Amino acid sequence: MLAAPIGRLAPSPTGRLHLGHARSFLLAWWHARSRGGRILLRIEDLDRERVKPGAIDGVLRDLAWLGIDWDGAPLLQSADTSALGQAVDRLLAAGDAYPCVCTRAEVAAVSAPHAGDDETPYPGTCRGKWRSCAEAGRATGRTPAVRLRVEPGAIELVDGLAGPRAFDVSATVGDFTIRRRDGAFAYQLAVTVDDARTGVDEIVRGADLLPSAARQKLVQHRLGLPHPRWWHVGLVVDADGQRLAKRRGDLSLASLRESGIDPRAVVSWAARASRQPCEDRVAPGDVLPGFQIERAGCEPVVLDHEALDRLLAARA
Ligand code: GLU
Repeated sequence: MLAAPIGRLAPSPTGRLHLGHARSFLLAWWHARSRGGRILLRIEDLDRERVKPGAIDGVLRDLAWLGIDWDGAPLLQSADTSALGQAVDRLLAAGDAYPCVCTRAEVAAVSAPHAGDDETPYPGTCRGKWRSCAEAGRATGRTPAVRLRVEPGAIELVDGLAGPRAFDVSATVGDFTIRRRDGAFAYQLAVTVDDARTGVDEIVRGADLLPSAARQKLVQHRLGLPHPRWWHVGLVVDADGQRLAKRRGDLSLASLRESGIDPRAVVSWAARASRQPCEDRVAPGDVLPGFQIERAGCEPVVLDHEALDRLLAARA
């Protein structure tokens, strides 16, 4: 018999969760639980500058309000970064990564922004310059970041919703940061190593992270880690096509909760917006029979005025 899948929820405590998060988290939960799987909760709090006071409590309260549970204690990513440090050291020792002393401004000054991509590919200024971080530090008086070497060519992956996709990471992003100059481990490294060390083999998350999956696949390959399976679900946009994440806090789960909205109406909206038939007001568990993630698709989901009005009228 195949081992039960292990999925995860990986919120960043950088602000309030909104309806788009609710839908992605419910889809991750339904996908794991409908197949007898486990689901972990990892709070991604490594980016100290972006972590907001009270946001971790807010995430826990929002998940409880929706009726989403998880297995084991919540994992705080910052609580144990030893595996991340070891991974960076291994990549440096193997020549797969190198120290980089460039500031953001220096990188921006020499690289041309790519059409349709708000990232600027790193031009490789520090590639091959120093044998170690200590040497780079001595030579420049700066604390170096660490970048992963990216060779030219497409990285191919198969997404459970988007199908086969290819990303040319070297042309769009270039050698990317795995440890920042301030010592913080970068998202692409941290998410990969922490998913692997906790046995996560299925990842359901927002479609904005699909290009990141290619970078993560590269990190997995270099570290000899297994590749998880990915399902990138469509983002929720408002009637003007704006991502909810870009809107003010008015559609945050906290504000819906505070104004007395029935969370079961939110669950029902998320299920129907993912083409899973259900009643008007349901608990997450009610959607499990017959749940199929393939129906959710990877296209953006529009929260139109009608759906929003219905939700805002659903008092508990
Ligand atoms: N922590 C990331 C976020 O909230 C998600 C990471 C992931 O699912 O891989 O955007």
